[in-house]
Amino acid sequence: MVKQGICSTAVPEIISINEITTAKGNIERLATVKVNITLIDRDSDESITITGLGSGQDAGDKAVMKAQTAAIKYAYMLSFAIATGDDPEADSKTDENTTVQIKPIPKKKSVSVKPVKAVCMNCGVVISDKVKTYSMEKYGRSLCLDCQKEIKVIA
Ligand SMILES: [Zn+2]
Repeated sequence: MVKQGICSTAVPEIISINEITTAKGNIERLATVKVNITLIDRDSDESITITGLGSGQDAGDKAVMKAQTAAIKYAYMLSFAIATGDDPEADSKTDENTTVQIKPIPKKKSVSVKPVKAVCMNCGVVISDKVKTYSMEKYGRSLCLDCQKEIKVIA
């Protein structure tokens, strides 16, 4: 903000302070504070006011301080849409109940068309189309080169 020539004034206001009895029987204070932060542009004198609310609970004298810290934090977080990554109000039970289960879409079975390979009728070895064509012309059946030689020898 200093870099951008913006100064800020924060005006906190106590909304409520209540005494609370904890589960252990201790008395603590719960304070809720509203903070108005005015951001003023040094050059144009334009200003904008952002507001945050926060609560803080403390057995000693820190309830208001905690509330102010939270209020300031939320004023900036909400106004500037700052992502914190954490989720202090997280409620996993609620999340579980509201989370939509996304079922994975089953992949379509790909129908693989295997190329029909020419095979030697004699020994079953895979032969190239070229060899097959040659063999069919010469011997009237598809034979591998080795079997072609054998037939030649026999013949
Ligand atoms: Zn063969």
